Amino acid sequence: MFAIYEKCIFCKKQLPHPDDRKGEGEHIIPMNIKGFWRSYDICRECMEYFKDNVDNLSVKNVHIINAINSLFPEDLNKIYPNFKYNAKDKFTDENLEMYRRGNKMKMKFSKKEKHLNLSDEDIKHLGFSEIKKILKDKNFDDTTLEEELEKLHNDYLKLKDNEIAQSEKLGISMRKGLAHDIAIDKNSFKEASPLIAKIVVFFINYILSDEVILNVDAYIENFQSLINHARFGDKIEKFTINYSPLFKENHYEKFHRAQIEISDEVYIV
Ligand SMILES: [Zn+2]
Repeated sequence: MFAIYEKCIFCKKQLPHPDDRKGEGEHIIPMNIKGFWRSYDICRECMEYFKDNVDNLSVKNVHIINAINSLFPEDLNKIYPNFKYNAKDKFTDENLEMYRRGNKMKMKFSKKEKHLNLSDEDIKHLGFSEIKKILKDKNFDDTTLEEELEKLHNDYLKLKDNEIAQSEKLGISMRKGLAHDIAIDKNSFKEASPLIAKIVVFFINYILSDEVILNVDAYIENFQSLINHARFGDKIEKFTINYSPLFKENHYEKFHRAQIEISDEVYIV
């Protein structure tokens, strides 16, 4: 755990005395990808922003997901629900939105003009409560409604794919569709560069010496651009650390030069 600076390392707002900083602090590497270092050198506003906008990028980035998959395959089920999936109904060719819940693919509930789309296991709760709303004006008494819906559900369970069960009394029919060609919706992939920028800002503050942090502009080109990319998603400038702990002065040789670049393809190692 780190609490060594007086000001927020991202927005430079004055922070309470280290002993008075409450809560869990900020995970330097998000918890959802097994991060455990925590920092208290960050203000509440910056933490909120990262929580809402940045920390979840880890589980929307295919490279990070692949890395997690190779390191902790048992955790994959907790991570995949962050992607959306598309599918087609095998018989009507209708586009369907899916998501992953644990090991299962589920259909996202949706209301179209004349019908509801949902997974089988959502029929009894989600489906029936929607049907009751639709039938509200028809004034069926509760017992009739419950009995008819129960009967309809039992009939539905016996259907083969693309067959239809019907309640003439309620004027409702249910078709057993089949989702196929399920594929990840690539629009749900996100670049992780603001998250990488956030992690790098933390590391620079904790790994490099005070001398560098106090004179950051002299040692690190475009450091502010890195902070702004983490905080606001601003365009990032080429970012170079011109510092070697082996030399007291701002002097380096190629061999000792550390350069961290953030490009479109971001990997966490
Ligand atoms: Zn701040």
